[in-house]
Amino acid sequence: WWFVASVMAQSADYVAYKDPKQPVAARVKDLLSRMTLEEKIGQMTQIDRMVATDDFMKTYSIGSVLSGGGSTPLPEASAEDWVNMINGYQKGALSSRLGIPMIYGIDAVHGHNNVYNATIFPHNIGLGATRDPKLVKKIGAATALEVRATGIPYVFAPCIAVCRDPRWGRCYESYSENEDIVRQMTEIIPGLQGDIPSGSRKGVPYVDGKNKVAACAKHFVGDGGTSKGINEDNTVVDMHGLLSIHMPAYTDAIIKGVSTVMVSYSSWNGEKMHANRDLVTGFLKNTLKFKGFVISDWQGIDRITSPPHANYTYSVEAGILAGIDMVMVPFNFTEFINDLTYLVKEKVIPMDRIDDAVGRILFVKFTMGLFENPLADLSLVNELGSQAHRELAREAVRNSLVLLKNGKNETDPLLPLPKKPKKILVAGSHADNLGYQCGGWTITWQGFSGNNYTRGTTILSAINSTVDLSTEVVYQENPDKDFVKSTDFDYAIVVVGEHPYAETAGDSTTLTMADPGPTTITNVCEAMKCVVIVVSGRPLVIEPYISSIDALVAAWLPGTEGQGVADVLFGDYGFSGKLPRTWFKSVDQLPMNFGDLHYDPLFPFDFGLKTESVPGLVARATSHGADGGPRLLMVTACLAISLYVTGYRWRASKF
Ligand code: BGC
Repeated sequence: WWFVASVMAQSADYVAYKDPKQPVAARVKDLLSRMTLEEKIGQMTQIDRMVATDDFMKTYSIGSVLSGGGSTPLPEASAEDWVNMINGYQKGALSSRLGIPMIYGIDAVHGHNNVYNATIFPHNIGLGATRDPKLVKKIGAATALEVRATGIPYVFAPCIAVCRDPRWGRCYESYSENEDIVRQMTEIIPGLQGDIPSGSRKGVPYVDGKNKVAACAKHFVGDGGTSKGINEDNTVVDMHGLLSIHMPAYTDAIIKGVSTVMVSYSSWNGEKMHANRDLVTGFLKNTLKFKGFVISDWQGIDRITSPPHANYTYSVEAGILAGIDMVMVPFNFTEFINDLTYLVKEKVIPMDRIDDAVGRILFVKFTMGLFENPLADLSLVNELGSQAHRELAREAVRNSLVLLKNGKNETDPLLPLPKKPKKILVAGSHADNLGYQCGGWTITWQGFSGNNYTRGTTILSAINSTVDLSTEVVYQENPDKDFVKSTDFDYAIVVVGEHPYAETAGDSTTLTMADPGPTTITNVCEAMKCVVIVVSGRPLVIEPYISSIDALVAAWLPGTEGQGVADVLFGDYGFSGKLPRTWFKSVDQLPMNFGDLHYDPLFPFDFGLKTESVPGLVARATSHGADGGPRLLMVTACLAISLYVTGYRWRASKF
């Protein structure tokens, strides 16, 4: 073999970068040596799919294309449509002079959330409540398969922000206010990318082949620490605080071989992170030894100045010199390319900075096998929204629920709910709304309302599938007092919360629940026994109503598998989730995090009551679709009845 290899290496046609037997570093070096400045800058450019054409991909040797929050959604697209679209851009890239494949990236932040019929997992705040890194790793693996099923090799996830103030519109993208929990949840990275081989050098990116995707730890660094939780604002904290609270998860992500890191829009002590050479190059690349590539946020370079784009050439200079390797431009890409070319030709940006950037990008592309397998096929199509993934999501929902109150006093618990009452009331704007359950970053950037845009099980539908066939379930979104009083219900389930939002649109100074949530709670809970389920991306103001509520559950943003809520509510499983963040009494207390001097929460960080599962009855079915689903699964129901064990056993105790 050695002889054959050396003969080949000497042959005039031999191209080292095309030889998969060569070490990755050698392939990178060889390819870099063949590239023109224009081709290098093309590799550093990430453009939106809305402006991408096969021809641009070829002409500019574009390195990456994305579907971002700002891209028009493709709610109708099938897996095949996605694969065909992405292969189209890829063929354009492959027809460039050196045939360098592009890498397509997407925000898959709670499952493959842009795609119809994908499994939507709980948003990160719910996963933080599970305290279960192994489960989160499995979610990473499932997400990777669903993303690959549509031909995509790269996700802008996980968000490893440590959200210190729930007024921040991205708080639900954060696993916790606590840095240790966020650290543990970086297990999603080996789930997405695969486990790094033993003996790997620290910081070297790793993606284990065609069933895995490159991950992106974001947003570096301090995104969750901005004053008053204002999105993209200034994080005021000293170096000790930055290193103790916001940096630890990056250390873990890098040890686990994360391929890319996205820079934060926010500033640290007044300096824009996109221009912060000390932290991006000095700390991330040199101290932490990160060898993957650093990507800017969406028009993040523009926002180095206020107003954005005010002095674009300067912004490009500052961003690239800070250490950004790939720029999410994403529209005005010729301007970016021209400016960067000018800056290099004028020697404002040295060539070795460009080579460092391109070398890192190529390293990731070679490592993950993009040169060998640039085009996607439909071999994984059955992974999208598969039953196995939905079961995993349902498990995650079960484990993410946090029981905050159970009974008006300790001796009178309401949960788990009996499954065979005569008549129950289900109320609230969030009981039958898949869009609200999923929250932002689902099908569209800001999420959706209603049950039409993807498949899943609403909480109402799950309740219908779980109670006994003899039970009458009455659903009214916002019943008035007279109706509630005039009808003889055994108990009520009230599901209220926030409407979907993403990023700045979710910043809130009031943190109130969406109308008519408070009215629904008052109308129902003052008249009868009720459990209130809060569907939200963060703690909301609940103190004024708490005395009328018998049982209170934080369900976060559970995603498509609402059956997980009913599984626990009716005792098939016990409550086990713990608060991933402090539940405040009033917004005047914010920011308030565990360990603060004047810590006086309604429910402290780590709080969560437990219940035990009730043996005997199992939910009949998980239905998909908002029509109540296959309510009459007679065989399962008969089995459940025959297994019925009289009397519910329960126990509620504080962790
Ligand atoms: C967000 C990022 C996201 C990017 C692409 C930005 O607005 O801050 O988290 O990855 O858009 O959608």
